[in-house]
Amino acid sequence: MCGAEALVRWNHPSRGLILPDAFIPLAENTGLIGPLTRRVLDLALAQARQWAEQGSPLQVAVNLSARNLLDDRLDALVAELLTAHGVAAHLLKLEVTESAIMTDPVRAKNLLQRLHAQGVAISIDDFGAGYTSLGQLKNLPVTELKIDRSFVMTMESDTSNALIVRSVIELSHNLGLSAVAEGVEGADILATLSGYSCDVAQGYHLSRPLPPDVFDDWRAHWAGVPSLPPAPAVESLEPA
Ligand code: MN
Repeated sequence: MCGAEALVRWNHPSRGLILPDAFIPLAENTGLIGPLTRRVLDLALAQARQWAEQGSPLQVAVNLSARNLLDDRLDALVAELLTAHGVAAHLLKLEVTESAIMTDPVRAKNLLQRLHAQGVAISIDDFGAGYTSLGQLKNLPVTELKIDRSFVMTMESDTSNALIVRSVIELSHNLGLSAVAEGVEGADILATLSGYSCDVAQGYHLSRPLPPDVFDDWRAHWAGVPSLPPAPAVESLEPA
């Protein structure tokens, strides 16, 4: 296990559990995305601090929205929160999509460079779904590419998508980056990815999203276990 991704959920008092697809656009349009991202960073870093104190540090990834990349003070906020929680910068990863970068590529690149200079890891999320040019990619201070789940999930039935996944893994390695496959939902796909020398896999086959306490229990099973422990069945973080 090499890290965890923080996923936001809204447990609404009367509407029940609401997934980010339903409220992130609203948060972006109302200007609440700034405070929301701050809250998620705060919670994620509190968790990272707890893991580090327990002697088992684990990198935590936080997703940024396009609006966050237009906030020139985001790097100062991240520095402030890392200090406040006493968390080493390398334990934080920020995930940004290609489309978020393309909103204002120069500004995004400058901000990401300042974050990277602090020691924070930067990941391109949903890679392949957007349209970052390879020239731009080469100049971005990123540490990994997360291959869009739409390619990974259909790898077995769609030969061209399997070729795309394989090519992106090779591209990542040629650029000195780590390749992460998103949307891994079966043992066969995991084995194929392993054959392609994919560095990291993420998806329901490994685990569905878990609340922190269940995650900790599951993680404890990993110590000394050569094969993948069965993921706990948790429905509470999934849509009703
Ligand atoms: Mn992500």
